[in-house]
Amino acid sequence: MLDCNTTAIELNFVKPLTFVDSKMAISVVGLGYVGAVSTACLSSLGHEVIGVDIDPKKIALIGSGKSPIFEKNLGELLAQGVEAGRISATNDLAEAVRRTEVTFVSVGTPTASDGGCDHRYIQTAARKMAEGLADKSEFHVFVMRCSIPPGTTMQVMTPILEQVSGKTLGEDFGVCFNPEFLREGVAVEDFRSPPKTVIGASDQRTAKIVAKLFAPIDQAPIFTTVETAEMVKYVDNVWHAAKVCFANEIGRLCKPLEIDSHAVMDVFVQDTKLNLSPYYLKPGFAFGGSCLPKEVRAVAHIAESIGADLPMIRSLGQSNATHIQKALDMVRQTEAKTVGVLGLAFKAGTDDLRESPILEVIAALHADGIAVKIHDPAITKCTDLAEQLAFLRQGFPGLEALASDLSEMLCDSPDDVADAADALVITQKNRTYQKVATEVQNTRVIDLVRLFADVPTSENYDGIGW
Ligand code: NAD
Repeated sequence: MLDCNTTAIELNFVKPLTFVDSKMAISVVGLGYVGAVSTACLSSLGHEVIGVDIDPKKIALIGSGKSPIFEKNLGELLAQGVEAGRISATNDLAEAVRRTEVTFVSVGTPTASDGGCDHRYIQTAARKMAEGLADKSEFHVFVMRCSIPPGTTMQVMTPILEQVSGKTLGEDFGVCFNPEFLREGVAVEDFRSPPKTVIGASDQRTAKIVAKLFAPIDQAPIFTTVETAEMVKYVDNVWHAAKVCFANEIGRLCKPLEIDSHAVMDVFVQDTKLNLSPYYLKPGFAFGGSCLPKEVRAVAHIAESIGADLPMIRSLGQSNATHIQKALDMVRQTEAKTVGVLGLAFKAGTDDLRESPILEVIAALHADGIAVKIHDPAITKCTDLAEQLAFLRQGFPGLEALASDLSEMLCDSPDDVADAADALVITQKNRTYQKVATEVQNTRVIDLVRLFADVPTSENYDGIGW
């Protein structure tokens, strides 16, 4: 267990802390890759910064204006900060908190033996921060910058701050999760020009203080909850990892086929409408239709035939099937005798049933002996479904059995479906279906497409990913 309570090192203040204009006094706990950059860059904005670490070498280096790590421009900024009297370093975290208004927390969060997050460094630092907070009469803000599982700021750090200091969150201090998106190697540049500034604060006052601090580099920060900000950090990095693996799989696919993978991806990245865009990035229902499932299978087949091992692309079908199964499980759990389905085609605005994922749910319910009523704005009893049903007959046995009964399940109006159903499954988002979902009473609603921005709190409503 680490302990901050090592032999006290004299506070290396070059001059007493002064507050000029909107400049603040800030302490930064943990002077590793993140903390050293924060110390240098916050000081370069004119703030007074006290760097705190338990490692005497880092304290000595930062305190004398030298970088403890190899990072472009960091040494120069630290030297300038120390020269100007804005940077100092210490191991006395409690005193650093007493002497500042805001504390950035960037201690390590290594992987624990069970694969989870090791909180020990956060807990040790929180106890010392609370000791300092206990002696303060002014409001203090703690800005968490470690990468941590969602919930850690409020459930691990904050209780220690409250219990040890005897102070109250929201009254005496605020907490904020402010994810850090710096890339090592260009960290100083990224600090000055961040991809985004996310402020997940416990209260308005805290949010305003952190926003003011970052105002010189970002006038339009994104305000959100602490937990959303924590999750954003993980999701961003998982996305980056997914992009790296995807690009590398494309490389391993292209090379044996003697296709230049960089030429392919050069074209790919130019599509900012569908490829590099928010499109397809909101949780919803499974993919389907005539293209995506078929082409994912085709690429997986090509890869297999040329001996290219592409686990990510190969697993897309499995991930999609897991999502469909989840929807089916949710419907089955309602124990409804009659299930209503609003939206049959694979997406809104088409009558195309090919590989529509809801068909698999309907087929399984049908096989269970559950009655199903269906409405789709683009499909009526009069729609010629002959070709579509031919596709169903080529599908797995459950779909084949469904083909002969599908037409009978179709209703002309969503109200007819809702009236007959004990549970409603909604696969397309439109005003009519929103209205039906709001009006039904004592009917379970399984929303597969996030019908409402504000998720209904009714116990009859359930969403697949919200
Ligand atoms: P690091 O291991 O380089 O630095 C952590 C520092 O914290 C060390 O110097 C350590 O001595 C110090 N420390 C530990 N306990 C302390 C305590 N009780 N009091 C004072 N100092 C203490 O780690 P890092 O790479 O800077 O990462 C810090 C956090 O930021 C981690 O949660 C990491 O996941 C996250 N993060 C890192 C990066 C990155 O590029 N390195 C990017 C984004 C987020």
